[in-house]
Amino acid sequence: MGYGYAGKILRLNLSNRSVSTIDTAQYEEWVGGHGLGSAIFWDLCQDKTVSGFDPRNVITIMAGPMAGTLAPGSTRCEMQGIGPQGYPIEWFTRSSFGGRFAPQLKYAGWDGVVIEGKADAPVWINVINDHVTIEDARGLWGLGTRKTQEEIWARVTGNRLNDWQAVGDAYTTQKPAVLCIGQAGEHLSRIATVMHDGGFAAGQGGFGGAWGAKNLKAISVRGTGGIKVADSKALIDTWLWHKTNFQFNVDNPRNEAPIVNFTDYWIINQSPGAVPIAPIWEPCRPKGCQGCPVACSRRMASGLANEAHCFTTNWPYLGIIPPGTQPTWMTPGEWAGGLAEPTDIHGLAKARYRTTDLLNDYGINVYDVFFADVYFYILFLMDAIGPGKAINCDLPFDKWGTEEYKAAYLKMIAYREGVGDDLAEGLERAAERWGRRKDDLESGLLPYPHWGYSEHNDPRAGVDQEYATILGDRDSNDHSFDLPTHGIPRVASISKTEPVISAERLVGILSQKVLPLQGDPLMFDYSDAGLYSASRAKTIAWGRRYARFWKDSVGYCDLLWPNFFNANAPDFSGYTPEGEARFFNAVTGKNISFVDGMEIGRRTWNLDRAVWVLQGRHRDMEVFAPYVYQVPSTRINHFPVYENGQWRYANVAGRALDKDRFEEWKAKYYELEGWDKITGWPTRSTLEPLGLGKVADELQRRGKLGG
Ligand code: SF4
Repeated sequence: MGYGYAGKILRLNLSNRSVSTIDTAQYEEWVGGHGLGSAIFWDLCQDKTVSGFDPRNVITIMAGPMAGTLAPGSTRCEMQGIGPQGYPIEWFTRSSFGGRFAPQLKYAGWDGVVIEGKADAPVWINVINDHVTIEDARGLWGLGTRKTQEEIWARVTGNRLNDWQAVGDAYTTQKPAVLCIGQAGEHLSRIATVMHDGGFAAGQGGFGGAWGAKNLKAISVRGTGGIKVADSKALIDTWLWHKTNFQFNVDNPRNEAPIVNFTDYWIINQSPGAVPIAPIWEPCRPKGCQGCPVACSRRMASGLANEAHCFTTNWPYLGIIPPGTQPTWMTPGEWAGGLAEPTDIHGLAKARYRTTDLLNDYGINVYDVFFADVYFYILFLMDAIGPGKAINCDLPFDKWGTEEYKAAYLKMIAYREGVGDDLAEGLERAAERWGRRKDDLESGLLPYPHWGYSEHNDPRAGVDQEYATILGDRDSNDHSFDLPTHGIPRVASISKTEPVISAERLVGILSQKVLPLQGDPLMFDYSDAGLYSASRAKTIAWGRRYARFWKDSVGYCDLLWPNFFNANAPDFSGYTPEGEARFFNAVTGKNISFVDGMEIGRRTWNLDRAVWVLQGRHRDMEVFAPYVYQVPSTRINHFPVYENGQWRYANVAGRALDKDRFEEWKAKYYELEGWDKITGWPTRSTLEPLGLGKVADELQRRGKLGG
């Protein structure tokens, strides 16, 4: 196997407790991460229509070729399988996490792990280089994710954490990298996460519940090997090129933040330690995933919420809503910019971080609990929830927003107590149980536009993430485009400063970088017309291909890649598309172009599409919840728009999607992808040139091949 790879994949069957290996070279054409996982799932999951909780579900955890090397932001690890969170169908889906698991896995000699079957009692997996054992986890079952990791660290190191230790004929000070579930996963929650270290989570998809159903508590890996790179000089040269031209210079920053503690500003200058939004009251330093020089998280002296960042630390911000204020659907960034100054900002920040720690300890998906939290409060104000009410619940709503309330709320979900049993099913399924789903999806009270996942951005504004989601499997959580197009004008709007770059210049940079679809600025037009254009179809196709290869397969982090706009560069032009292939080729020696990678991404996107088709996907299902078409958005959302021959940033609030025009747009998108316009199914003439002839055969056998 070539440079960047360990050479083999660990295959575990929990039903018969067998351990075997797969030669990574068998799947080399899929490169790594997501591509590897999709191809292996296709081959090994015999019935792709089973539930995520079924022992026949196959879960893959795959590193990319860059993990464990110096390439910045390249240690993402990809988890795939049938995800219980999906609604009404539990789609084959994905989730990824950072930290140091992927590097440790490769240093131990493995490119990934495949989990099949179900153990007859709780187990954890102990990987120390080539030595793999399936251990009894009954003593760990019931513990939170933090205690579970501490217990495994103690067992594997013999209570000699951070000390030199002999491992075979090698030595290491590294503690094992542990992936594990908390109580939410054990209770088969559809919104349970798989956690690693303090705050790295495979968050969306419900994989924590899928692990719980397999009686799998944890996987621990400790490796003492290394990963060979093809051209170490080229790798160092590329790293220096990136550092010199694009990284934040703490001694000489080009741009100072106009708003302190505001995540969106981070995207402009990629300053270390900046993603968590919270006041700093104690010594702290930037903390990052292994090998990432950007280090976007914080490590605090107190240890609170270490490594947790972004939305996980943001959602409890609602706790500082002034008493009597009614919540509305706003993003945490808007809360941060719009709230009255609370009296005890440090005390509230500490409470918020303790709540974040509790969430991560139980192993619960932050996105779902955030939306459920606000939904509950609105139902409380409507007199629809409470003791003896339509939704019988004894949460202390008079203390809503406090740390005490949130602790009770999270515990109820983790252990499925009371209505927590409903919430553990995910908010959309819970609303179905309460008989509210239909009405609340029509009014927008339940902001769940697609597949049982909440809004990420407003589906009536920026649209890219939500279009990608309805055409895919889960909240796409893909910030390729909205970080620059939305983040830049939003920072300007909230800070009441001029945008650091004009809409016209920004769109000009973007449209030159989206190889091989470059040269069409209208791909970034968020005017009403732009939402339904053929150019928008290209935007979505480009994003899916890029995400499937450069992010999900190679392992590049969504926060750093792609980089269209870069405030540290004199001309604001970021390192995409040059950086992707430079780092990749230096590590692997494969000598592919950026566009070659995009084509592998297209291939992987089509393979995933084929799995969804087997699961029941049809174009008639790819429809948003009614409110998206019926209720105009109210949130302030600035994006580039092209009107009357000019580019400008405009607030696009106040519109709903036009259902007929969206349906027409879907046909444009399917045509671009080479899918049947009536069914949305891939055709043989699309699949075969991609080397997916056997996939076309299988779809045809099942009567699901596009015509
Ligand atoms: S940018 Fe942050 S999340 Fe991404 S790899 Fe770097 S440290 Fe990890």
